[in-house]
Amino acid sequence: MYFKRIEMHGFKSFAEPVTIEFHRGITCVVGPNGSGKSNISDAIRWVLGEQSPKMLRGGKMEEVIFSGTANRKSRGMAEVTLVIDNEEGILPIDYNEVAITRRMFRSGESEYSINNNQCRLRDIRELIMDTGIGVDGYSLIGQGKISDIVSNKTESRREIFEEAAGIVMYRTKKAESERKLSSTSANLERVNDIIGEIE
Ligand code: ATP
Repeated sequence: MYFKRIEMHGFKSFAEPVTIEFHRGITCVVGPNGSGKSNISDAIRWVLGEQSPKMLRGGKMEEVIFSGTANRKSRGMAEVTLVIDNEEGILPIDYNEVAITRRMFRSGESEYSINNNQCRLRDIRELIMDTGIGVDGYSLIGQGKISDIVSNKTESRREIFEEAAGIVMYRTKKAESERKLSSTSANLERVNDIIGEIE
């Protein structure tokens, strides 16, 4: 599995549609200061569901939309598509190529899709869970992450190992089942109360 390409339109400094092709192995992005290199990794983080503007080096999420320059109008929407090679079937979906898209409008509305089928953010999270490419995964390593790993925060370190070991999905499903179980028990108690009253 590897990132094949990223398509950006209206995202940060990428006012016009831009496609960057990646290949297997290492891709190096070089350019002058302020030319938009980090905006590419921000776009990857964003399309994979990042919800914190701070993680995208901004104050508000709306700041990911191209804000205009002296000779170019601002845009009303940011759109990023990340195309992932899934020949090895690591992503649990029956496609050899998976395109994850996120759109955001100035109204604050966000849309997500997988291979052009509109979906929820939760579907994207589940798709990439335990593959290491999620926003909490270990494939996007920012400066903060390195200090997390070397710091004495055992919880942070544990999260990274759990993601690598592929158990986050099971932990999430277990928590979900426990929530359902406790709400079912509460319902059952209520039903028993009603039965008691009737009898
Ligand atoms: P450095 O080498 O200094 O780290 P860089 O190549 O990583 O720089 P980025 O930080 O990716 O550069 O890009 C910064 C540029 O993106 C700035 O010129 C900034 O004005 C522009 N930019 C960021 N957000 C927006 C936006 N919403 N609209 C327009 N331009 C934006």
